[in-house]
Amino acid sequence: MSSVLHSSFDLRPPRFEQVGQPQWASWHWQHQNRLRTIDDFRDVLELTAQQRQAFEASTDRFRVALTPHYAALMDPDDPGCPIRLQAMPNPGELTDHPFERTDPLAEEEHMPVPGLTHRYPDRALLYVSHHCPVYCRHCTRKRKVSNPTTAASKAQIQRSIDYIADTPQIRDVIISGGDPLTLSDERLDDILGKLRRIEHLDVIRLGTRNPVTLPQRITAELAEVLKRHRPIYINTHFNHPAELCEEAATALRRLVDAGCVLGNQMVLLRGVNDDADTVMKLNRRLLRHGCRPYYILQCDMARGITHFRTPLKTGLEIMDHLRGRIGGVGVPDFVVDLPGGGGKVELLPEYIIDRRPSEHGDVVTFRNFQGEQFEFVDVDGS
Ligand code: SF4
Repeated sequence: MSSVLHSSFDLRPPRFEQVGQPQWASWHWQHQNRLRTIDDFRDVLELTAQQRQAFEASTDRFRVALTPHYAALMDPDDPGCPIRLQAMPNPGELTDHPFERTDPLAEEEHMPVPGLTHRYPDRALLYVSHHCPVYCRHCTRKRKVSNPTTAASKAQIQRSIDYIADTPQIRDVIISGGDPLTLSDERLDDILGKLRRIEHLDVIRLGTRNPVTLPQRITAELAEVLKRHRPIYINTHFNHPAELCEEAATALRRLVDAGCVLGNQMVLLRGVNDDADTVMKLNRRLLRHGCRPYYILQCDMARGITHFRTPLKTGLEIMDHLRGRIGGVGVPDFVVDLPGGGGKVELLPEYIIDRRPSEHGDVVTFRNFQGEQFEFVDVDGS
């Protein structure tokens, strides 16, 4: 694998060819110049008739927005480009299936105060923004993300922080959204500072897709804020190796230098990353840049994303391929987040192929990643 990364600036579409490097590197410019309407995609990519139709029909369900950076990573000539599939509406999202759920993980049901999910005893999920630089078509929180009328107010966030402070069994807070990095540095500094002062919190996590969709947001100033409250555990969301370009690598390096601990939560998506070679390439690239592959998430039963879902066996086959072919640090957990708030369960390929009793204990036959068989004498524990 080549270590030379592509740059979104070099790949910028004709629409942005007059834009210089300083503008391209400005997250404010990227945000202000997001692509939102069909017209905005002129000189960026050719939409198929189906994509055009889906675009028009989907706007009142889930908005379209793309940073020029993310748009530049798309192959303009390939309707099946994995970046395009994640960001451009697809006819599949207009079809409702009876098993789909608006809130698949029952996050709203487990809210002791608005804007805070407290489902596991020791963990809480704090929603601080419903905005994102790019609205991912596979988003599991479509019910509120991209909807400007449901954004968290300062007072609401304060009530959530008060709840955390008053609930000593919470040891771990995940700041989420939308994308928390759509808030200003000052607002983030304030929230992180208030959480850091809560004695019983061991872990502060921040879930953000900005390193992927708007890496320019990871400025030296933001890094200073994060450093002040370190260690911050950052869960990011790369789904394909083409997303880890030069700009994204710079963002990851800044976060590592600021003392952040990085993990990647990849969502398994049909046509994007549902094959072992793509996941292997992504994981190797993530490791090279200081980000540990943390989860492969089975795509949820959220409304309008069924066309992205893969059979469970696809994830198991990918896990089977990774184990033994990349060091353990590159093998994430493959998890299903159970609908209705059941929590995450990990799925593993089956490695035990036989078990038979012997005078010393059970003889267990395992297979390894190459299909070779090995016997192991189990003890009965007495
Ligand atoms: S960045 Fe996350 S919250 Fe925002 S649209 Fe994408 S998946 Fe949803």
